[in-house]
Amino acid sequence: MTIDNYKFAGKKAIVRVDFNVPLDENGKITDDTRIRGALPTLKKILADGGALIIMSHMGKPKGKVNAKFSLSQIVDAVSEKLGVAVKFAPDCAKAADAAAALKPGEVLLLENLRFYPEEEGKPVGIDKEDPAYEEAKKAMKASQKEFAKTLASYADCYVNDAFGTAHRKHASTAVIADYFDADNKMLGYLMEKEVQAVDNVLSNIKRPFTAIMGGSKVSTKIGIIENLMDKVDNLILCGGMTYTFAKAQGGKIGNSICEDDKLDLALDIMAKAKAKGVNLVLGTDCVAADAFANDANTQVCMSNNIPEGWEGLDAGPETQKAFAAAITGAKTILWNGPAGVFEFDNFTAGSRAIAEAIAEATKNGAFSLIGGGDSVACINKFGMADQVSYISTGGGALLEAIEGKVLPGVAAIKG
Ligand code: AMP
Repeated sequence: MTIDNYKFAGKKAIVRVDFNVPLDENGKITDDTRIRGALPTLKKILADGGALIIMSHMGKPKGKVNAKFSLSQIVDAVSEKLGVAVKFAPDCAKAADAAAALKPGEVLLLENLRFYPEEEGKPVGIDKEDPAYEEAKKAMKASQKEFAKTLASYADCYVNDAFGTAHRKHASTAVIADYFDADNKMLGYLMEKEVQAVDNVLSNIKRPFTAIMGGSKVSTKIGIIENLMDKVDNLILCGGMTYTFAKAQGGKIGNSICEDDKLDLALDIMAKAKAKGVNLVLGTDCVAADAFANDANTQVCMSNNIPEGWEGLDAGPETQKAFAAAITGAKTILWNGPAGVFEFDNFTAGSRAIAEAIAEATKNGAFSLIGGGDSVACINKFGMADQVSYISTGGGALLEAIEGKVLPGVAAIKG
């Protein structure tokens, strides 16, 4: 079923959203992006004459009630955005009466799902090494099903619009779907957009396809690099990873960040790229600094010939040109991870060159997907969010999807 085809009139919809918004010490929302992200789905259901039961997690209360993570703090903000006075159920597992009393156009927000350990389904208070752990896990899985069944009993249909948690097999993100038949469960608009964006870079690829992977380490990106190797035409590996590759090839990298236990892996990636005919673009020159600080002294040098006491913190001018050349002609672009320590204003040039090339390619008809916290922060820092095709809202979920893993939240609905 899809959200556009479902007849919500007179029905109650239980919608999993990601309202895990940052709050300041007074409980005030400091960034409401996630709430805004769910509005199209929520408003559509209300406009069609449905009633809404909204559920979410907030923070990591680890299965215990904790006022600091109470969703009661966001009731006013959600009411204001929806234009409806939102009712609040202070116990998400005891909300049957409140849900039953809902009339079309009304909205009930459930308290933080993670106040119950059943939401995540991990046994609490028992160590993994404990011989009784396996039994505890089994018991928890059974009570997770009961918890999901209770949530499901509140509504006629289930909508999942929480992409940020789609890689988790939790009660509200996946298990609950078992209690609805295929005609009564669907992805929300945000999820549909995310799934479509991932599909555009993994299946529905227009060529040439350039992927840009940056950030600090090879080890955290290896799953993605390996999956992309079979799909891309150009693969730019940048950021801190550059120096692991430079050292692996015998280069001198001074104090640059490096994973010494991944030198063989770096050589292996280079060999694989060659064997598969992938144009692997690595930094040749860099901006090196004499300290890890914005006001450090800098010099441009080769990434494989960095003087002792200096460290590469950004891509150099030649490298920036090579990156741009591999990006501007592309028709599909994926960017995850900065090309330098972009948090320091003096080391943003490499990332900016990438962002500008992506913007140009996008203007010329490319599909560009930006995802993973830091590249999103980069694009926002440069004020260029409106010059790319899609910015993913999901950190871990997006990365797992790009690795080619099936997301439980999507599979629970689409099969
Ligand atoms: P990741 O979480 O692995 O995507 O890495 C993102 C982080 O990598 C950002 O905080 C960047 O500052 C950092 N980073 C990028 N390039 C470098 C570099 N050359 N040296 C140290 N850190 C870097």
